[in-house]
Amino acid sequence: MTFDVFIIGAGPIGMACGIEAKKAGLNYKIIDKGCLVNSIYNYPLNMTFFSTSEKLEIGDVPFISHGSKPNRFEALEYYRRVASSWDLDVNLYENVEVVTRINGQSDHVEFEIVTSKNRFMVKTIILATGFYDYPYMLNIPGEELGKVKHYYDEPHPYYRQKIVVVGAANSAVDVALETWRKGAKVTMVIREKKLVESVKYWVKPDIENRIKEGSITAYYQSHLTEIKPFEVDVQTSDGSLTIENDFVLAMTGYKPDFRLMKSMGIEFGHDEYQTPVYDLETHESGAKDIYLAGVVCGGLKTNKYFIENSREHALVIIRNIVDRLGK
Ligand code: FAD
Repeated sequence: MTFDVFIIGAGPIGMACGIEAKKAGLNYKIIDKGCLVNSIYNYPLNMTFFSTSEKLEIGDVPFISHGSKPNRFEALEYYRRVASSWDLDVNLYENVEVVTRINGQSDHVEFEIVTSKNRFMVKTIILATGFYDYPYMLNIPGEELGKVKHYYDEPHPYYRQKIVVVGAANSAVDVALETWRKGAKVTMVIREKKLVESVKYWVKPDIENRIKEGSITAYYQSHLTEIKPFEVDVQTSDGSLTIENDFVLAMTGYKPDFRLMKSMGIEFGHDEYQTPVYDLETHESGAKDIYLAGVVCGGLKTNKYFIENSREHALVIIRNIVDRLGK
């Protein structure tokens, strides 16, 4: 079977694209290398969204949450319900490995896609692969040790442990506060002079006060130089020091899968964010018949697009594909 649209990524935006494709009567397939909404599944267990629930809705399925903002458990429940309500055609735990353009004629099959389980022939592709699969590495000795985590799940394992949190943005601040409140001894190692501006305004006073009162230690303009089994070396503005340490939580951010994008012929701007080149009206990338949806559109500026402001990509893209295929 040849699919009209092949959607890579079953995050909220990939799902929204599938819904619009279904509404338009297109023959589509969504594929994800993990579970449904894999990124959200891997978010911290106790996270609460900053958006209210209606801003996270897709496919006209109402999202009712108990609090003013939904949490991760409610979001997982919600997106499962959306997939069931729309009976979305989703293959899970199937990684897209190779995408080959067969020919340049839009009225013919355009691509062959080889996944970890199947081979598909497709006319158009929507890339909605998000940004949460590739952490920024510290690239220092000892990073390979099991005590170093690039993803944070919950505070309990860190009770009575000496932890270093690397980073100065929302994730680092949330992790520092949550682990400290659950009995960890927390040191923050921050490259910048201060916490980043985008730290949520309702959280900022909390972390600043914990640092000021000495409950959480923070080294600004500092970075780790080596991680050892029971210690870490820190380069601070006042010189280097070694501190005892049980775990390092490197909350240094994540980046999109540029390798897959480049292999598909997608090009990037020369700006500092490596923004992929695409038509802002249609979302078609420079590589014909390959469209970009969701957070992946921002390149390394991974906070430019989020669910709230990129749900609308789905309709724009599917309208263009309908025109392109003359359906
Ligand atoms: P993702 O949700 O990242 O989905 C991409 C999918 O692609 C994943 O399931 C992944 O497994 C899959 N994939 C990747 N590569 C491949 C491959 N090669 N083959 C197959 N599948 C692949 N946004 C808001 O709007 N409001 C909020 O309140 C909010 N809170 C947030 C809180 C936290 C802690 C974080 C980290 C983010 C938050 N966001 C919020 C951002 C939001 O979650 C993301 O912007 C959103 O998930 C992006 O959706 P997406 O569908 O573009 O990508």
